[in-house]
Amino acid sequence: MENLTTKFGAKPVINACGIYTDLGGSRLSPGVMQAMAEINQSFVQLGPLLDSTGEWIAGQFDAEAARVTPGAAAAIMLGTAACLAGLDGDRSEQLPDTTGMKSRVLIQKCHRYKYDRQVSMTGARLTEYGSDDGVSSRDLEEAISEDVAMIIHPAHLDESPGGLGLEEVVALARTREIPVFVDAAYMVYPLELIGSYTARGADLVSISAKYYGGPNAGGFIMGRRKLIDAVSNVHFTAYESGTVLKYGRPLKMDRQTIIAVVTALDEWLNMDHDARHARYAEQVDALSDMLSGTPGLTLAKKFFTMDEKFLDDPVNTLLVTVDESTAGISAAGLADQLMDGEPCIAAIQENDQVAIVMDVLNDQEVREIGGRIREILSA
Ligand SMILES: *Cc1c(COP(=O)(O)O)cnc(C)c1O
Repeated sequence: MENLTTKFGAKPVINACGIYTDLGGSRLSPGVMQAMAEINQSFVQLGPLLDSTGEWIAGQFDAEAARVTPGAAAAIMLGTAACLAGLDGDRSEQLPDTTGMKSRVLIQKCHRYKYDRQVSMTGARLTEYGSDDGVSSRDLEEAISEDVAMIIHPAHLDESPGGLGLEEVVALARTREIPVFVDAAYMVYPLELIGSYTARGADLVSISAKYYGGPNAGGFIMGRRKLIDAVSNVHFTAYESGTVLKYGRPLKMDRQTIIAVVTALDEWLNMDHDARHARYAEQVDALSDMLSGTPGLTLAKKFFTMDEKFLDDPVNTLLVTVDESTAGISAAGLADQLMDGEPCIAAIQENDQVAIVMDVLNDQEVREIGGRIREILSA
């Protein structure tokens, strides 16, 4: 790290936040690193590699087809472009100009979210249906026109109050042959969740590798074979060697990343997840033991979810509530000092609480965090 720090300014961070793109996603396992080193030894044709890894992924989840992508956001972009251009090479070249194509993508008003931006980037026009008061089948029916190329449905918002559920959306979309895209980026545990959206009728599903121990810039899209073929039509391969200047050329991938996406997935599907959770719980216990009795700190064992909520189970987080008058420092002050230390410690801070999330921490880092918090509080 010495050289990386001094030469390239890569300042090491102890990541007590969990999986965040800006912090680098997850930590690759030795097995994944080894697979990347191995594929580095030889060249492979990326078209066939994407086909065969896609087949393997599809087989894991009973989907018709799949394809590795540089992340879930890229999967949304490529999936949308595929719904616009289909198998037509000229259309792939023409995007983001959608002249002559179906170009509207529907989204429930209460489903607007950060990554719907990836839909609009293709040139598609994102159109809301429903209102703030709720969404009915009727709203969807009225929003459907000849111009609709796709409906996007984020999995984590599927049960939004007043929203239209996936089954109802699929039922209507089917009769009009409009593909339904479910962004299930972090629906990777319990494992059954991953394949559940295609089983429920979604035509395309995106998953992010960052959430299952894969590369930060990795993920995949799966669903109907014809649509995955259309994804190939807009993705990067055969841009130089073929006849079509395909839309998704900038979303290209390394063979090392492609292999990392499937190797990490293979490990994730075969991992002892009870043991994984037991490890987090032990780390939480260890940190809790180090900090118990510290004046001004109240400790609680919690589960910090991917959508940033604190639940009870399975424990992966020590939630520290800071009473400023007793502790002599606020939660924000504590978080700042953790971040300003060497190495910096990034933790989740909200109001009077600091959360230490174990998802990507090792035992040594947990001890370092405990020591640092004690040091700051006793200063
Ligand atoms: C992280 C995330 C994405 C983007 O995934 P990347 O693999 O980082 O591109 C999309 N949707 C949701 C819900 C996410 O949490």
